[in-house]
Amino acid sequence: MIPFRHRSGLIVLLIALVITAIAADNVYNKFRNRSYSNRGYLSEADEIKLGAQVHDELRKQHRFVTDSAVTSYVNSLGQRLASNSKRANLRYQFFVVDDKSLNAFATLGGYVYVHTGLIQAAESEAQVASVLGHEIGHIVGRHGLENVKQSQKYGTLAAIAGVAGAVIGGKSGGNIGQLAGNLIFGGKLMKHSRDAEREADYLGLYDLQRTGYNTGGMVEMFKLLQRVGQQNPNLLGNILASHPPAGERAENTIVEIREKLRGSDSRGVSNTNEFQRIKARLR
Ligand SMILES: [Zn+2]
Repeated sequence: MIPFRHRSGLIVLLIALVITAIAADNVYNKFRNRSYSNRGYLSEADEIKLGAQVHDELRKQHRFVTDSAVTSYVNSLGQRLASNSKRANLRYQFFVVDDKSLNAFATLGGYVYVHTGLIQAAESEAQVASVLGHEIGHIVGRHGLENVKQSQKYGTLAAIAGVAGAVIGGKSGGNIGQLAGNLIFGGKLMKHSRDAEREADYLGLYDLQRTGYNTGGMVEMFKLLQRVGQQNPNLLGNILASHPPAGERAENTIVEIREKLRGSDSRGVSNTNEFQRIKARLR
């Protein structure tokens, strides 16, 4: 028999262990209260320059939607989300890529892209907003910059070795363009670790909520990606396909809403007439 005063100590210890175990269940815990900056990476000015070069390379490879009703809708949605992000002082630019696969990606310095296929497959504005929020999360988390840094560190692409020097030193545009091209087509820039993806989901969820959207839109989007992945996997862009399984992402979001954002999936904007009009325009 354990003396009472020891037993009560034991009970306190057990309760503490149980609380720790429950808290450890939430994969987002490690991202809470992180602060973000360019320290240890390219400066923001150089990041923006490299982002612009990457954009020029992307323009050569993809057809961009020019219908101003569509582009201004996506831009306005993106700007509202960006202004509520943890990197609101950056200038963001949003582009719509004419491609039927379900995809979206962010590069460097505020450049964000979404495919027409994703907008067409989405059932609500909140779902599209959740994807843009995730991509803005990559910009906030400096995930593209981390990939540039890793490429330099391990010399996986010889041409990348001097990327910072090339940008800062203002070498010829063609040279930097080649570096940007290597970043894209070497597949290094947008391929993030699974933890970086989870962090972008976490940041995107809170961005969605702060912008006044129903957070259930993010859960629905992951379920939609899961369905498409099962029924028509070739429609999933390879960038989204490399993320953690959509089922896991839905579950992480559900847990976070239940523990920290209770009720946020039953209020806020889900859909708008404008979204339906834009979707119809893309048909
Ligand atoms: Zn991502």
